[in-house]
Amino acid sequence: MTIRDVVSYLVAHQLAGNAEVIKIAELYFAQGVSPSVIADALGMSRDRVRGYITRINDRTVSPHVLSKIIKRCIPLITQVKPLVNSCRCRCGAEVYTSTARYRHVVNEHREVVEMFVEEVLKALATAVVKK
Ligand SMILES: [Zn+2]
Repeated sequence: MTIRDVVSYLVAHQLAGNAEVIKIAELYFAQGVSPSVIADALGMSRDRVRGYITRINDRTVSPHVLSKIIKRCIPLITQVKPLVNSCRCRCGAEVYTSTARYRHVVNEHREVVEMFVEEVLKALATAVVKK
């Protein structure tokens, strides 16, 4: 249940064209880079970086499992083609901030998010079985 929430959060940001959120998840959870180094690297405020990390952390119980899941699912998630490019969604809507883009995708394109979440979860399950 919580793994699905993490995957769903990341897939929605990828579809929203918020590549920086995926990058933050990868650097912090998969590579162990500190929030302040990430903030400098991405030219974002530390508070904003910490905000995204907190959102993702909220959605799970074990940091170890979370790190493993994120390592495995990021290569899959980054293959998903964003619905929003340069603030314009494929449906014609114009969305100008990363929060607005995320909300638009979650509210208006829920079925697309769900479809990719299922795909990623299926691929994760296969990877676990194969080991
Ligand atoms: Zn749209």
